[in-house]
Amino acid sequence: MATTDDSFNGMTERCDSCELETIHEVSVQIRTESMKEENAQFSREPYRVSECQRCGNRTSQRMNNA
Ligand SMILES: [Zn+2]
Repeated sequence: MATTDDSFNGMTERCDSCELETIHEVSVQIRTESMKEENAQFSREPYRVSECQRCGNRTSQRMNNA
């Protein structure tokens, strides 16, 4: 069941709001982390942001687990 969609950067993922597997638009954001006390250095972390195309719910997660 592999379909190739060339235009839309979409992935099928589970949405917690829909409680379904829905299409998500996935993008990457760079965020500056400055609020952590343990890690005093200001590091820029890439976050993977996915937005449910059904309900608009957004989830983000850090990409590298340093
Ligand atoms: Zn949803």
